[in-house]
Amino acid sequence: MQIVNTVDSLRKILKPLSKQGKTIGLVPTMGALHAGHGALIKESVKNCDVTVVSVFLNPIQFGKNEDLDKYPKRLEADAKLAESLGADYVFAPSVAEMYPEGDPLTMVRDESLESMYCGAYRPGHFRGVLTVVSKLFLISGCDHAYFGEKDYQQVFLIERMVKDLNFDIQIHRVKIVREESGLALSSRNEYLSEDERKNALSISLGLRDAKDAYAKGERSVSKLRDIVLKSIIAAHGIVQFVEVVNQKDLQKFSGILGAEDKVVILVAAFFGKTRLIDNIELN
Ligand code: AMP
Repeated sequence: MQIVNTVDSLRKILKPLSKQGKTIGLVPTMGALHAGHGALIKESVKNCDVTVVSVFLNPIQFGKNEDLDKYPKRLEADAKLAESLGADYVFAPSVAEMYPEGDPLTMVRDESLESMYCGAYRPGHFRGVLTVVSKLFLISGCDHAYFGEKDYQQVFLIERMVKDLNFDIQIHRVKIVREESGLALSSRNEYLSEDERKNALSISLGLRDAKDAYAKGERSVSKLRDIVLKSIIAAHGIVQFVEVVNQKDLQKFSGILGAEDKVVILVAAFFGKTRLIDNIELN
């Protein structure tokens, strides 16, 4: 496994491989890799001839008061994990390598959903994500790319971007990897104190209870939301949003769910200073 730091060198390595007919899988990450990232890497290794894991803490997707500076960084350990799972390359460019002219003036935006849900609380976040993912697609020339459903809105927007802009890339969704307790794995879980971590279980427990209620026939959007809200609030979490939305277009449901509706509940909440997101598909 090789660590590559520049755009030119990655292209020089991958272009000939592509020409030989090898399929290239890309796993974009911000580093501090855990078993959630591992599941994406394994999928790529299983399906593609060559797997590239990008490790890039992308400054343009962070707001001014967010955790860019304290985000965990450990490239060496990340490279070891990627190698142990069969990845071929780790692409770890510097910020100057990715943005030599400073923040890019050409950005990719989603006009409809970039300021909803996570985007409502993180202005500019999704255009930062879509822009860096587009750059990584173009730099790597990948055929396949792997994203986790943990970031449900993100993978939805990436799938739409790929369709809208005719990227010749197949996007693969990977299910959320959770701790045994139910807590969704996240690099940000490292920020949680012991108490906060216990309290944060209220997110996945609330989502599970909502799914159980749905399975037993509950179809009221407000009642399903309330189950999750109450669980988090009882555990001292500060809720940003709990929304019951359509899996197909991420539009909000209200009233009573219909038999044909495909539903996912999206959540963001703070425990202490740590913002966590999670979601569950009800059907
Ligand atoms: P990040 O490094 O947080 O930007 O995440 C990189 C990729 O890993 C994204 O596609 C995430 O959705 C995915 N990911 C992060 N945590 C998990 C998890 N617990 N389960 C599945 N995928 C995950």
